[in-house]
Amino acid sequence: MGWTVAPADAVYLDNAATTPVRPEVVDAMVQAMTGRFGNPSSRHRLGQQAREAVEFARRQVADLLGAEPEEIVFTSGATEANQAALWGAAMALRRQGRHVVASAVEHPSVLEPLEALHRQGFEVSWVPPQPDGVVPVERVLQAVRPDTILVSLMLVNNETGARMPVAELARALRARPSRPLLHSDLVQAAGRIPVDVQALGVDLASVSAHKLHGPKGVGALYVRRGVRLEPWLRGGGQERGLRSGTENVPGIVGFGVAARLAREELPRSTQRLALLSLRLWEGLQAAYPGARLLGPADPALRAPHILAVAFEGLRADVVANHLDQAAGVMVSVGSACASHKSRTSHVLRAMKVPESLARSAVRFSLGLLTTEAEVERAVQAARQVLAELAAFVKREPVRHGG
Ligand code: PMP
Repeated sequence: MGWTVAPADAVYLDNAATTPVRPEVVDAMVQAMTGRFGNPSSRHRLGQQAREAVEFARRQVADLLGAEPEEIVFTSGATEANQAALWGAAMALRRQGRHVVASAVEHPSVLEPLEALHRQGFEVSWVPPQPDGVVPVERVLQAVRPDTILVSLMLVNNETGARMPVAELARALRARPSRPLLHSDLVQAAGRIPVDVQALGVDLASVSAHKLHGPKGVGALYVRRGVRLEPWLRGGGQERGLRSGTENVPGIVGFGVAARLAREELPRSTQRLALLSLRLWEGLQAAYPGARLLGPADPALRAPHILAVAFEGLRADVVANHLDQAAGVMVSVGSACASHKSRTSHVLRAMKVPESLARSAVRFSLGLLTTEAEVERAVQAARQVLAELAAFVKREPVRHGG
């Protein structure tokens, strides 16, 4: 059939934005679109085969998260899962209270729906992180009130890789008489570090297939058994009546395969990613003495695949463009989800990173398919590009600076 693959000379280090789809996933999706094209709601054999494929994938996704298959609701991605969790819980619980707590460093797909709820009469308390990007449990607890119905804290921040104390928060919240629901965005954690919704103690959790080498446009919301949500798409009653619409069978099947492979490779991939990012960080420091790691210095407090690095004195967009043009190394400036906006990242601002340093921040993110050779090529490229840029800035500080 012959589809084009990414150029062989490229080094793709923007896996926090999206990841390459694994060949096993593509094969399973093609099979789902051809041999199993039926509607899972149809009673005939083709329909039932499609249903079986969806339910098989539901178990695979549940297994990645330590959940039961009945607790998984497929969505169009994590944006939908986040929005559905927050809106669905707020609507279901609005008679008990109208106060929500969330960290200030959440993804826009959490921030914006909460802003919308605020406009509809809910109160939202935003909890700032420490300078290293971690949001401490005590700060979240200080914001919780008797009328708090919902708390949202991501497990891994997509811009800095900072790991948040979600399990500790869940334990503390359970001791509160009001027992607010706890939602966690697990998008950047699932498949890279072991994730278990039981051990985390969360009630709602969001994941996305395309961040773990599955297809775009499919994700899932974990809804702990017994947690009630207002349905967010009404119609034919699919996905337990919460999210109507004919299931995205190929996407769901692809997600299932990606989840299974990611789970089988854990915890080896966590360790491998940590070694690769350490090698990358050492290489960047050697290449540019003004390189500063944004986010926790302790690797135990960081996800193993994200490195946010500020190249003091250089502009992030210039560094990223040169890495791409000179050596095919693809990285991102701030968060790809927000980089179409001209403002500096809300995450770095919340961490009180000075504006000039924030504008020099580049995010390197590794994936499950990143190789040691690719990291070495990125280090070589960085050495050359950063030396050139540093020499240029020395000659013409005004034109480059800012
Ligand atoms: N949450 C986080 C932490 C993310 O990084 C992303 C993707 N940038 C999302 C949510 C949104 O996921 P999706 O692309 O599946 O809508």
